[in-house]
Amino acid sequence: PTGILSIRSFMILILGFITININLGFLGTPSSLQTLSLDGHLSFEENHHAARDFGNRYKFLPLAVLHPKSVSDIATTIKHVWQMGPGSELTVAARGHGHSLQGQAQAHQGVVINMESFSRQESQMQVHTGRNPYVDVYGGELWINILHETLKYGLAPKSWTDYLHLTVGGTLSNAGISGQAFRHGPQISNVHQLEVVTGKGEVLNCSEKQNADLFHGVLGGLGQFGIITRARISLEPAPKMVKWIRVLYSDFSTFTSDQEHLISAENTFDYIEGFVIINRTGLLNNWRSSFNPQDPVQASQFKSDGRTLFCLELAKHFNPDKIDKTNKEIEKLLSQLGYISSTLFLSEVPYVEFLDRVHVSEVKLRSKGLWEVPHPWLNLLIPRSKIHDFSKEVFGNILSNTSNGPILIYPVHKSKWDNRTSAVLPEEDVFYLVAFLTSAVPSSTGTDGLEHILTQNKRILDFCEAAQLGVKQYLPHYTTLTEWRAHFGPRWEVFMQRKTAYDPLAILAPGQKIFQKAI
Ligand code: FAD
Repeated sequence: PTGILSIRSFMILILGFITININLGFLGTPSSLQTLSLDGHLSFEENHHAARDFGNRYKFLPLAVLHPKSVSDIATTIKHVWQMGPGSELTVAARGHGHSLQGQAQAHQGVVINMESFSRQESQMQVHTGRNPYVDVYGGELWINILHETLKYGLAPKSWTDYLHLTVGGTLSNAGISGQAFRHGPQISNVHQLEVVTGKGEVLNCSEKQNADLFHGVLGGLGQFGIITRARISLEPAPKMVKWIRVLYSDFSTFTSDQEHLISAENTFDYIEGFVIINRTGLLNNWRSSFNPQDPVQASQFKSDGRTLFCLELAKHFNPDKIDKTNKEIEKLLSQLGYISSTLFLSEVPYVEFLDRVHVSEVKLRSKGLWEVPHPWLNLLIPRSKIHDFSKEVFGNILSNTSNGPILIYPVHKSKWDNRTSAVLPEEDVFYLVAFLTSAVPSSTGTDGLEHILTQNKRILDFCEAAQLGVKQYLPHYTTLTEWRAHFGPRWEVFMQRKTAYDPLAILAPGQKIFQKAI
């Protein structure tokens, strides 16, 4: 009997060893992926770029990077991982332009799909002119390329982000918010149709009419239900020029009531944003570097005295033959506002220059080595009724000395968002986006260092929670299921159901840290 037992034990050991080896074959080495027949290719070495993002804080090295040359490459890879079943740890993350902040486009020891590898081909973009123009684009396309292509037809998308070197799939997985959102809604409100590869490797078309649940789920879905491979984006006639205006306020209530008035006014501006200027005595001129004061004498006498100021930023589209009419409209709108009269600054720029404005700062920051630093950004959506409480504590107390980067603040109408999408919003009809776009000085232990900024972010979040402001994070980052459930609130059930339907093994976008692959 002892002999039989030991043979049995030996067999179990051998079987165990084989099983572990088979699993390791899938997990620890590229072997099974190498068998795939692809138009593009998989790379198993030198993949450090896929373990980085704009946030510059999280670094997870993938096992492989897929450089697809077709949608079928993406489907084949995902189907392969799906067929490996729950026994394998392999996950898959689409990487757009990698401008996430906390590793959301990374996949630790998984497959990262370099979505940009088959963009930038003009044939990938098809502009359809006519009464309701639209453009069909590839999911890995950069918005800046879409702008240049559609402008050839005198058209452009309606809703933007402040920075255009981001991909369609990346922004549609969040929302895509900028100063046009008060009128057109976010980018996810301006999409007619998507092509999506689900977590089972199926390629599906979806829209309001076809696979509607998948369509709404993917929009704002944090990459959880499928990879967006194509999108049909709504267009409008593009203006040639933009009147770009900045005015200052020292009183927060006047600033916000003017913003709220303008987002609902008739014939209003085409773009409405704002930002906070904290303790910028020496640098005050920076905020208007390419703007001209309407009254240079008065403007030169304006002193900020270290006060916290609020800058309202506006833009009105125009074509040169309509300049007089545009000037009159602007004059009328400005006459209704309560800004500090000596602080009216104007600029007139081509539409492309206006939309691509952040890229100018990027080039400058890159040249000084200040672009690839840690970015502990915090983006919040705050109900209108709570914005004063928020401002008092955050701008008046937590950040009264320094801000370590721009702070954007502007209101939008909830009615311009579709509540069937996955985007999570505050309860009220009007809410503010407040974006703390901080940069940390690497290895500094002072107020410009990462630790200090993270502590300030935490103080802001703790305050919002303690004061029950009903704030939601935009580009949310949580690490526990409890936090994610609280974030989604009553929408959690639908989010879970969609996950079960479209990515039941939790293969997709593991860097969001919402679901963990069952193994
Ligand atoms: P990535 O970082 O590559 O991916 C983001 C997430 O989407 C990941 O989970 C990824 O797996 C998933 N994903 C990527 N591609 C796809 C796809 N094709 N299908 C499905 N899932 C996919 N946001 C705004 O709303 N408004 C702004 O004004 C704005 N300005 C910004 C300015 C800068 C300088 C930066 C760095 C970011 C800004 N953002 C803004 C945030 C930005 O929209 C998001 O970080 C967005 O995810 C970045 O796009 P990306 O292509 O780099 O995506």
